[in-house]
Amino acid sequence: MNKNFNVRDNKDIDNQEMNNTDTDNINNKKYIYFDHAATTPVLPEVAQAVNECFTKFYGNASEPHLPGRQAKEILESSRQDVAQVLGAKESEITFTGGGTESDNLALFGIAEAYSGRGNHIITSEIEHPAILMPLKFLARKGFKITSLPVDKYGMVDPSDVKKALKDTTILVTIMHANNIVGTIQPIEEIGRLLADKNVIFHTDAVQTFCSAGTNVDSLGVDLLSISGHKIYGPKGVGALYIRKGTKIMPLILGGGQEKGRRSGTENIPGIAGLASAARAGFKTLDDRIAKITAMREYLKTELLKNIDDVRFNGHPTHRLPGNCNFSFKFIEGEAIVLRLDMAGIAASSGSACSSSSMKPTHTLIAMGLSGEEAFGSLRITLGFENTYEEIDYFLETIKRIIMDLRNISPLYKKGR
Ligand SMILES: *Cc1c(COP(=O)(O)O)cnc(C)c1O
Repeated sequence: MNKNFNVRDNKDIDNQEMNNTDTDNINNKKYIYFDHAATTPVLPEVAQAVNECFTKFYGNASEPHLPGRQAKEILESSRQDVAQVLGAKESEITFTGGGTESDNLALFGIAEAYSGRGNHIITSEIEHPAILMPLKFLARKGFKITSLPVDKYGMVDPSDVKKALKDTTILVTIMHANNIVGTIQPIEEIGRLLADKNVIFHTDAVQTFCSAGTNVDSLGVDLLSISGHKIYGPKGVGALYIRKGTKIMPLILGGGQEKGRRSGTENIPGIAGLASAARAGFKTLDDRIAKITAMREYLKTELLKNIDDVRFNGHPTHRLPGNCNFSFKFIEGEAIVLRLDMAGIAASSGSACSSSSMKPTHTLIAMGLSGEEAFGSLRITLGFENTYEEIDYFLETIKRIIMDLRNISPLYKKGR
């Protein structure tokens, strides 16, 4: 493990190019992966770090013998790596079983620890289900939830946060970037206005970690959730940043691991993988942002040039580098996704969590899109290993698919 990586050392990110045979071929067919907001492939160096823990460093980090000490060393150097990316102290990082668990720990943990102070929680209408569902549960338990609206770009207005504050407010939770449309929220501004208030501030940074700046002091947050598998790391591992001095009740009780905040024998392979992905992401952050943003702008510009009756969703500039979200009139996103899959391209019609429910994604509805526009949405999320060649193939393919689908759509003929 290389702990001495240099933050400023922005080597060409081609140096960490994916192993083509692993990611380009699914069932021996050339396949293009444009769904990085749902999950990412695993970096070769991450797989290696994980594998090393399975085969060599299999110890239980709580045991004092050599294998235990080795596991403990990996655990603590991984914590150091994650803390460094966040600009946090090691003691402020708690490893969890993923982004969903980090969000649940933040919400239930704070609600329980601060219930003596108040019962009011502020959030936004466009949160991930890992926030929405725990808050729904807390509402049934008597907590009062204020859900703030967003503008047409999917952006929360910080002055709405200010207006919603009450004496009983204990927690504000607003995601750093939305997973559907990619809009990055004004977290710094909200952090500043909460700085002198007796309120805990949480952000779900699963989509921004290693894709945008996530320094906890710049953001002004007390709690921040991250996940391994959205940053070219393993699934089933994540972390919650908990600012020193913040009280939190654990969700999982047992052997007292993670300073009692998350019991259970530590997932050393997953944690080492998360740290390895975070190191790689941090080292190449500026290069990744520049490369992916340029590819996104090309894709967006060319698509809008080639296809009529399409709307680009989300903020034009305050957005995740790789996110493109379009609404195509007269057709359904789900149909586009199936056709793209047949053509060897992975994309999404919304969030993976809502695609089986036949409800348009709540994010697009909150942004003021009609049901029809929301159903006609397609999300393309690029990663640094994608190429212009892949985008050109996508542009060709999507043009044909949209034409085909519109030709058989009764709405298209009526609407024209
Ligand atoms: C993926 C995601 C999560 C859930 O993370 P898991 O590690 O899959 O549990 C939470 N919030 C956001 C914004 C996400 O994109």
